[in-house]
Amino acid sequence: PVLRVALMGLGGYAQLVANSMQSCTRAKITALISGTPSKLEEWGNKYNVPKHSRYNYENFDDIKDNPEIDAVYVITPNSLHHSQVIRVAKAGKHAICEKPMAINAKQGQEMVDACAAAGVKLLIGYRMRFEPNTLEVVRMRNDGEFGNIKFFQGLAGFRIGDPNQWRLNKELAGGGSLMDIGIYAINGARYMVGEDPVWVTAQETKTDPIKFKEGVDETIQFQLGFSNGTVASCLSTYNMGFLDRFFLNGEKGFAEMRPSIGYGPIKGRTNKGELNHPHIPHQTIQMDEMAGIILDGKKPILPVDGNVGLQDIKIIEAIYRACATGERQELHLT
Ligand code: NAD
Repeated sequence: PVLRVALMGLGGYAQLVANSMQSCTRAKITALISGTPSKLEEWGNKYNVPKHSRYNYENFDDIKDNPEIDAVYVITPNSLHHSQVIRVAKAGKHAICEKPMAINAKQGQEMVDACAAAGVKLLIGYRMRFEPNTLEVVRMRNDGEFGNIKFFQGLAGFRIGDPNQWRLNKELAGGGSLMDIGIYAINGARYMVGEDPVWVTAQETKTDPIKFKEGVDETIQFQLGFSNGTVASCLSTYNMGFLDRFFLNGEKGFAEMRPSIGYGPIKGRTNKGELNHPHIPHQTIQMDEMAGIILDGKKPILPVDGNVGLQDIKIIEAIYRACATGERQELHLT
């Protein structure tokens, strides 16, 4: 069977997902949810979504009566994910939710609980967790090819444009660069090191308080400590380009990836040579794999469930606390 997906929020990233899904073998778009009638018309025609499967934000609870929808992919601004995922769960549909899953851990927990109560799956759009070169590095680490892991560096950032976009609006974004792009370094530290951190320290730099208002971080450096003594050093920023790099160092080897989180191709090398899996759009692999998880109960190599998303939000909250207090924060993720 094929996973029948309703796309919610027809913006920039949804466009990329929709295009990439045209090459999926196990997932297809069967419904659309948008507040803009003209987009429903245009996307509906382009992706062959019949009129009765086009919804808006007022009436999308009616998806509960639509047997042609298995899952809803929520691709809206961050602060909307919480209520939207809960409504999807109440409609009895599986939820796929973009990162960050929520703007605080309380909301994230409520989303996890709502999906559990409704008996539906909650998956977070962590596309890198399905990317072949990334998974090759993870395999090598698991097989001991780098020896004991000692250090990880994750650099994630870009120069953000339009000052009026929702990403720079605390209400909609929930924060700044850390919520949007720094989360890749957090999530990446976890799958590259292969453990969850037990403490964080962090320092914030703000050079443009007009563009980056109260509660919207411009640049944060943070460090994650792991129980085995491994340390991660990361940078999240909205004000520097060319920052898309992972470096993992072990006692017997290393991996460096650059780009490491961009839409691809992901490139890099290890002490054994170049990473050379061919590029397939990340969203194509992600949606086919998510179909396997939802329809067949397949266990992915790297999990992408709501709890993984919630743990990232807990780390984000701890980083913000560390910036505010200047003090190391202990993490209790499990
Ligand atoms: P975008 O601004 O391009 O699209 C957002 C869409 O939400 C727009 O179509 C907008 O009309 C709609 N929307 C609905 N209600 C809205 C409201 N109240 N205010 C503003 N817009 C509203 O943003 P995007 O880049 O597509 O990001 C959407 C989500 O996807 C975010 O959570 C983002 O973090 C995530 N994202 C993930 C990746 C990834 O690689 N996994 C990449 C980009 C974005």
